[in-house]
Amino acid sequence: MNPYELTISQALKKMDTGELSAVELTQSCLDRIDAVDKDVRAFISVDRQGALFQAENADRQRKAGQGGRLCGIPLSVKDLLSTKGCRTTCGSKILENYIPPYDATVVQKIKEAGAVILGKTTMDEFAMGSTSESCAFGVPRNPWKKGYVAGGSSGGSAVSVASCECPGSLGSDTGGSIRQPASLCGIVGMKPTYGRVSRYGLTAFASSLDQVGPLCRTVEDCALMMNVICGYDEMDSTSVKQDVPAFSLSLTEGLEGLTVGVPLEYFTEGLDVEVQNIIRNSIEVLRKKGARIVDVSLPHTEYCVAVYYLIAPSEASSNLARYDGVLYGYRDMEADTLLDMYKQTRSKGFGAEVKRRILIGTYALSSGYYDAYYKKASQVRTLILNDFKTTFQSCDVLISPVTPTPAWKMGENTEDPLAVYLSDILTISANLAGIPGMSVPGGFTTEGLPVGVQLQAAHFQEEKLLKTGFNLEQGLGLEQRKLDI
Ligand code: GLN
Repeated sequence: MNPYELTISQALKKMDTGELSAVELTQSCLDRIDAVDKDVRAFISVDRQGALFQAENADRQRKAGQGGRLCGIPLSVKDLLSTKGCRTTCGSKILENYIPPYDATVVQKIKEAGAVILGKTTMDEFAMGSTSESCAFGVPRNPWKKGYVAGGSSGGSAVSVASCECPGSLGSDTGGSIRQPASLCGIVGMKPTYGRVSRYGLTAFASSLDQVGPLCRTVEDCALMMNVICGYDEMDSTSVKQDVPAFSLSLTEGLEGLTVGVPLEYFTEGLDVEVQNIIRNSIEVLRKKGARIVDVSLPHTEYCVAVYYLIAPSEASSNLARYDGVLYGYRDMEADTLLDMYKQTRSKGFGAEVKRRILIGTYALSSGYYDAYYKKASQVRTLILNDFKTTFQSCDVLISPVTPTPAWKMGENTEDPLAVYLSDILTISANLAGIPGMSVPGGFTTEGLPVGVQLQAAHFQEEKLLKTGFNLEQGLGLEQRKLDI
């Protein structure tokens, strides 16, 4: 096995026994990036020198018996997390040359744990999208099938992990952006409970929905990364003071006594037959593992897309007001007046989808429309949250598809934003309710495209997700398919 193919836990074991060094592992990942990234386009920037320097440090620390939990593990980071001294573009021309003066808390945490940061990954501009096709600096490709989307918005992060350029990545999820690309690329991805992971240094898209989370190849690795990134941070006022359990310990617990709910509304028309079969098969696996399966209902599911596409753009329109060419990022130098400078900077700097969201959000927040749109959406959001609260009184974990279909062809829906918005229907409710959700590989379609299984639980119940995910992974025992790249 090549070092770049190792999972995080496998690599840690090999480094602990001295069989592999962090420098060798990092070099192997960098070579893999050199070999495949021109085809899969997972990275916007690769920090070769910095990575090898960090790897040498990790080797020294391990020798001195000091290394942290991710000592010497190469990771990629979505390009909307601040990395000190390292370009952070958010996939947008408006931040093409932005170099942050500080590290996001999660970046600091993985660095302190000894991780080696390889580089920053491609993503939909400002995380707005479900395919990563709006990235201004290269569009990631699904490594399983030529010409297919990787998903988004953390598409580059998912692709970097799926194509073994690195064993793990940090992404962000506002409406599905970790779980959806993880599902479409056949890896594990988790959106933690809102407030579980610090948002300090995460470029804000929709502040009441955004969460940072891990993408990796196994549930075990996911638990490991979660333990590194979770925890209270005084720099984020929405961060929650809540104990962080040792996630890895719960993995091997059985599923006896666990009730898994199957939400009726997630299995309706429009759901691809192969996706449906893969989820049904996973339900049977969990049943065999000892879980009790019950049907449940989330009656307000049909309003999720409408509510999300009012709340997210409203918050985005406010958050993105800061990109006006004054403090940082691109500034149009041809304008004669200040107002023209604002206009030109924003017209030239932002792409079409970002502009669309700013317009929708500004409209929804404007006086006269605020009550009808933003306020009404916020009220329905509470009903969606209440659906989950009621449901979690009778079950521990919900199982469903992540997306109604497997990955689709690149370019297929670029002219039809609504079709793409609708594909978010199964992931956005977790963000609206603030609950944790994850995607675990469930199988492949006959065309060879991966399909993920979504698991959701009540606030701060990530342990239940991880143990269910682990049991599912073990029970399915999916053979390790080789990519032909
Ligand atoms: N696809 C959703 C959107 O376009 C979610 C994006 C995300 O989670 N960042 O807004």
